Amino acid sequence: RAEIDYDKCVSCGMCLVNCPFGAIVDKGQIFQLIQSIKRGDEVVAIVAPAFINQFPGMTPSKLKEAMRLLGFADVAEVAIGADLCTIDEAKDFMEEVPAKIPFMGTSCCPAWSVMAKKLFPQQAECISMAMTPMVLTARLIKKEKPNARICFIGPCAAKKLEASRRSVRSEVDFVLTFEELMGLFEAKAVNFADLPDNPEDAFNSASADARGFAASGGVAQAVVNAIKKMDPDREVKVMSAQGLADCKKMMMMAKAGKYNGYLLEGMACPGGCIAGAGTLADPAKSVAMLNKYKNEATMKVATETPYQDSLDLLHY
Ligand code: SF4
Ligand code: SF4
Repeated sequence: RAEIDYDKCVSCGMCLVNCPFGAIVDKGQIFQLIQSIKRGDEVVAIVAPAFINQFPGMTPSKLKEAMRLLGFADVAEVAIGADLCTIDEAKDFMEEVPAKIPFMGTSCCPAWSVMAKKLFPQQAECISMAMTPMVLTARLIKKEKPNARICFIGPCAAKKLEASRRSVRSEVDFVLTFEELMGLFEAKAVNFADLPDNPEDAFNSASADARGFAASGGVAQAVVNAIKKMDPDREVKVMSAQGLADCKKMMMMAKAGKYNGYLLEGMACPGGCIAGAGTLADPAKSVAMLNKYKNEATMKVATETPYQDSLDLLHY
């Protein structure tokens, strides 16, 4: 029986994928989700940017259709919230570094930010308090559809903890991984080859930089690009780390003053979210598909988002 020290655990989920005996499993919410759909609730799925390449034969518009077949009322991309998170972090960085804090760590990977705050409590205020793309997207949907129940679907074990924590109201009712979603597709015999591929149905509400949140380096790049739009003269130095061991080393160097003035991007999974504990596909192939998907985006930088005016309403 696996014993987990919850004082140290940051819910990254890497033990789930690495245990050779499959002795560790996380708590699923599939049953609760199915009950909610069967009750007739309006359940809206919000899908993390790492969805690309997760299901054989999938395209973004086919994914939407497949989700409707499962009973979801609607599907939105969490990349919308990634644009808003980028804008929040860019503004925070410009205001606070170096005037109030020596460096700033990104907020969107909960396993990294929890680890940094647990192990480096004196530097906790240097980790951005910006709400994550998941929370911002959920709140945006709730504004438009107050009765909807929100199901986040992503690559991540840590989001299950993030969605249930009490300090920030996530507005997320269920969290499923891509692996769990695949289980639902198989149970319902959803075959992507049989589904219509209507390009008008594809996601088109977020920037290329927001899509890039799925891979290591993408979050910091999005924030740097947004800062360049807001203050073209501002130089931003960046350091990124992937995997918790490297994230810890980065924080030790930052604590020692090596990264003063820097934006630090931490991603708990080696490779970023496309290699998260709840993914199904080869991360190297997913990165290639992600780059192609980014190139297809009509908006390039977070500041182009049409949802920027809603941002103030989401800070509660
Ligand atoms: S690998 Fe991650 S989820 Fe598993 S026990 Fe360690 S910190 Fe917790
Ligand atoms: S890198 Fe992504 S998938 Fe991995 S723990 Fe962080 S947010 Fe979750």
